[in-house]
Amino acid sequence: MLLYTKKILLELKKNYPKAKIALDFESPFQLLTATILSAQCTDKRVNLVTPALFKRFPTAQAMAKASLPEVEKLIHSTGFFRQKAKSLVLSARDLTEKFNGQVPKTMEELLSLRGVARKTANVLLGTAFGIASGVVVDTHVIRLSHRMGFSEQENPDKIEKDLMKIVPQRDWIWFSHAIITHGRQVCKAQKPACAACVLISFCPKKGV
Ligand code: SF4
Repeated sequence: MLLYTKKILLELKKNYPKAKIALDFESPFQLLTATILSAQCTDKRVNLVTPALFKRFPTAQAMAKASLPEVEKLIHSTGFFRQKAKSLVLSARDLTEKFNGQVPKTMEELLSLRGVARKTANVLLGTAFGIASGVVVDTHVIRLSHRMGFSEQENPDKIEKDLMKIVPQRDWIWFSHAIITHGRQVCKAQKPACAACVLISFCPKKGV
């Protein structure tokens, strides 16, 4: 591992020792639902929408039988609501038909659910089950990986592979939350606050 990478990881650990997901959930099914809704949307907005959605459809069995227009109405404000409603209902049908209504605990099984790609699968495995299967690569992780010089790839799966080589597996779950938190609070898309950033002495600030 390059020295500056090591320093960045150490500093992130000092600043975000208990970084965790910002989505509200009480079961793996709820986390799956919230994660699907979080695409192109803030976690804050998702957390405003999910209480009513979870109340109406508390389980995969209930969501599997939901009518698309009703789901669309409940999740409308999260954007891309038609596609998301379809993913919610179809993945819930897959859960009930193939996994007895339970969220499976392997990457392969999760990827077999309609509407679920590696990002969502990694969130589920890491946050719901404590299984370090990979690194969550969302828009923040893509941006920060480039700026910090961790990856030059554009494809999220390739960025994830680069990160998995750099970050020790025992840290994958924590790192995903920590780098996302840093992206939200400091290294923002439009205006990275480099002057106030604890990583300023080590970060290569690529493209900034
Ligand atoms: S120094 Fe700047 S570019 Fe690097 S992580 Fe901090 S805010 Fe982002």
